[in-house]
Amino acid sequence: MNFYGMTQDDLKAYLKGLGKEQFRAQQIFKWVYERRTIDLEQMLNLSKSFREELKDKLSFDLPKVLSHLKSVDGTQKFLFDVKDGNSVEAVLIPSDGRLTLCISSEVGCNMACKFCYTGKQKLKRRLEAHEIVGQFMQVTDLISPQGQRISNIVFMGMGEPLDNSDNVFKSIETLHDSWGMNISKRKITVSTSGVVPEMWKVAHHKVRLAVSLNASNDDVRTQVMPINKRYPIKDLFAACREYYQATGDRITFEYVMLKGVTDSVEQARELHNLTKSIPCKINIIPFNEHPGADYTRPSDEQIELFHSELMRLGSHVLLRRTMGRDIFAACGQLTSEFDNKPKQMDISNSKIGSVYDRNKNVKTAFTAEGVPRV
Ligand code: SAH
Ligand code: SF4
Repeated sequence: MNFYGMTQDDLKAYLKGLGKEQFRAQQIFKWVYERRTIDLEQMLNLSKSFREELKDKLSFDLPKVLSHLKSVDGTQKFLFDVKDGNSVEAVLIPSDGRLTLCISSEVGCNMACKFCYTGKQKLKRRLEAHEIVGQFMQVTDLISPQGQRISNIVFMGMGEPLDNSDNVFKSIETLHDSWGMNISKRKITVSTSGVVPEMWKVAHHKVRLAVSLNASNDDVRTQVMPINKRYPIKDLFAACREYYQATGDRITFEYVMLKGVTDSVEQARELHNLTKSIPCKINIIPFNEHPGADYTRPSDEQIELFHSELMRLGSHVLLRRTMGRDIFAACGQLTSEFDNKPKQMDISNSKIGSVYDRNKNVKTAFTAEGVPRV
């Protein structure tokens, strides 16, 4: 039994089965998550015989880190071995005083979105809860000696979290538990391509919802995201409204800009009209290239036109600065094909992107090194 896959309630039920008191679960959580002690010998508030008994029953194994890359812009990428020749990636992104861990929920993904590198691989396996919590714990252990702590979690790595919702929400409960890693639910975001029947669970667990919209109408959305055939925009938006009614929290819509497909000014208007009736924020993500991609990134000028049209119309919109491009860690670039994948992208000839500060109404361009151009 892997300890990291058990919520506190699971552990209580398990200990009950062994005839132990319920408060023992909190004691063990405190040792493991707060003090990072996994040596049962050191858990001196448990009796010697109990420690001996647990030794044979609980494992504290974490997914092994196969590689750890650092980008010039401070982004870090971790590749984890999740057994049977499978691996997944997580990305640590520093920005605005936050340290966000982008976590994977599956090896590969069955949603087959046309623009996504992960979607090029069929689903190999859904991750167990301990492998999801394990990504967080490994990164925590690697960065805590430098006095760093993960502040936010986004389920935007590999896989569709709502295709593995039991394990995803189990891991969320443990990471949120005040005896666990004590991460506020307001700092945890689940991103979905729109698995409508599962979306109520995001409200039920009181975490933030991000929806990969990526198109302003059903025709285009079906073309780039096959899931739209099953759950078209009307159904998706009904589920979004239910989320808002249940939580009062604004939704984030992600919108990948693909040259000639989703980047016209008319589409910006259509996107505004589509989303204006729902309290939301739109995150524009310029397409990130990957091997074999059928799309290209629009020009900076086109991205700017699209973005400023949405701003002019009054949408709450953010143009995401691409992070970690030099280590192939940007949105939609994650893969588990460790041996064949490019270790680095050649970005020498590409513009890295720009960020707008809405309040000051200024645009800052960034160089390939991730530093502001002057
Ligand atoms: N499966 C979930 C979460 C992982 S994808 C989902 O689809 O929401 C995280 C985000 O990356 C999604 O918004 C997706 O639309 C975006 N994305 C995928 N491929 C991309 C690419 N090549 N360039 C830019 N963004 C991409
Ligand atoms: Fe899967 Fe999300 Fe990629 Fe679509 S964008 S293939 S849902 S990981």
